[in-house]
Amino acid sequence: MEQIRRSKVAAILKEAEVGKEVNVKGWVRTRRGNKFVNFIALNDGSSIHNLQIVADVPKFDEGLIKRITTGAAISVNGVISESSGKGQKVEIQATSIDVLGDCNADEYPLQPKKHSLEFLREIAHLRFRTNTFGAITRVRHSMIFAVHNFFSQKGFYNIHTPIITSSDAEGAGEMFRVTTLDMNKPPKTEEGDVDYSQDFFGKGTHLTVSGQLEGELAALAMSEIYTFGPTFRAENSNTTRHLAEFWMIEPEMAFYDLDDNMDLAEEFTKYMINYALENCMEDLEFLSNRLQEEEKGKKAEDRSMELIEKLRFVVENDYIRLTYTEAIEILMNSKPHKKGKFQYPVNGFGSDLQAEHERFLVEKHFKKPVILTDYPMSIKAFYMKQSDDGKTVRAMDVLFPQIGEIIGGSQREESYDKLLERMKALDLPEKEMYWYLDTRRFGSVPHSGFGLGFERLMLFVTGMTNIRDVIPFPRSPKNAEF
Ligand code: ATP
Ligand code: MN
Repeated sequence: MEQIRRSKVAAILKEAEVGKEVNVKGWVRTRRGNKFVNFIALNDGSSIHNLQIVADVPKFDEGLIKRITTGAAISVNGVISESSGKGQKVEIQATSIDVLGDCNADEYPLQPKKHSLEFLREIAHLRFRTNTFGAITRVRHSMIFAVHNFFSQKGFYNIHTPIITSSDAEGAGEMFRVTTLDMNKPPKTEEGDVDYSQDFFGKGTHLTVSGQLEGELAALAMSEIYTFGPTFRAENSNTTRHLAEFWMIEPEMAFYDLDDNMDLAEEFTKYMINYALENCMEDLEFLSNRLQEEEKGKKAEDRSMELIEKLRFVVENDYIRLTYTEAIEILMNSKPHKKGKFQYPVNGFGSDLQAEHERFLVEKHFKKPVILTDYPMSIKAFYMKQSDDGKTVRAMDVLFPQIGEIIGGSQREESYDKLLERMKALDLPEKEMYWYLDTRRFGSVPHSGFGLGFERLMLFVTGMTNIRDVIPFPRSPKNAEF
């Protein structure tokens, strides 16, 4: 076969240069036709749309044609031509075809029909080859790019914070241990505990749950930084919104108070959504149709807003800002509360808000994204700035429709004395965390930051409903197959 430089399917469809001779390589989605002419739908991952290859059957070897099955990899030389078929402007009139990789049709699990998302999770090594996961993969790529774009344009520096950490500030119960000790016969201390001083790092270590504490160290020199890395939580929450391994975006800013922090969170999420609208429209249209198809059986009032309309709605409207105390009041006066419909009852100030409460506020009460502030000190982390009322901290959670909490953040406590007092009250290892406390001894300033779960944002942007479908290789309890 003659060597011609390979073109991507997306470029051929976009440029539509009729008469040009091209080479394309990709995977066959379908082949149909008769003994005179065959139509091959070819996809190479560059577009939600397939490229139609037209093969005049008599010109090709019969054995070759038979090998062009769903899933096979082929290389095609041909001429771009105007297409008379519906759904595409151009197609390729094939002059030569090579089969690069055969695909045994009897064993190939992906048939040219609709498969359930559950089934596709079981064959996650192949699900990139479906329209849905192709679209999600391209959108995810664009969103990653947008994160770096946004912060870089604003003068934030990207910091790589450690993945292996010895600080367990957020509570050791939900961390994964990292060790090279022999699990069958670990060295013991005199008291009979495992002796981690003999472990690889000379102390106990875990996978990080957040890059925040290290991020703060950088912010208190570089002014504005962000981390975007994997985080790990061993909590046994088998929900559609929790992963054991997920990616978190954590900006940390010196000289920002809580209002500045909320402004940034709102600007950032709107930028991200708008970026998807401007750069991923074909994939979003596909995902929107997919969602509407999925929801056909539902009653009108249970259907979600059309995906693209929903994204535009969030970009165009101000988020509602209110305090936790005000939210509790709304919840206590709500119908589901009075009728005992909440699974977790709301018991006034101090109640931790569950996803059902967050979603009530966002989806039923305000019908807009909501930023809740000033949570009770007792239910939030030690590093949050204490308010003068002695019972709340300057926390903020951003709540999104369909998702609930998408961002958790706060102004940080900048006073050394108050921070130390809180760490003592919570029995945190202040000696081991001297490095964190040092920032409050050497030029401490007001500062703020937040964490946005990247996959939660992906759920919102793609309209997918299970977090395991917006990350290529999900990690969740009892599931680390691929
Ligand atoms: P939730 O209450 O929803 O479990 P959290 O309060 O434990 O979340 P934070 O510690 O505030 O979460 O983490 C910051 C952000 O990271 C959250 O707002 C959310 O977007 C995301 N996130 C937290 N836990 C997970 C998880 N297990 N899987 C995916 N994303 C998560
Ligand atoms: Mn949170």
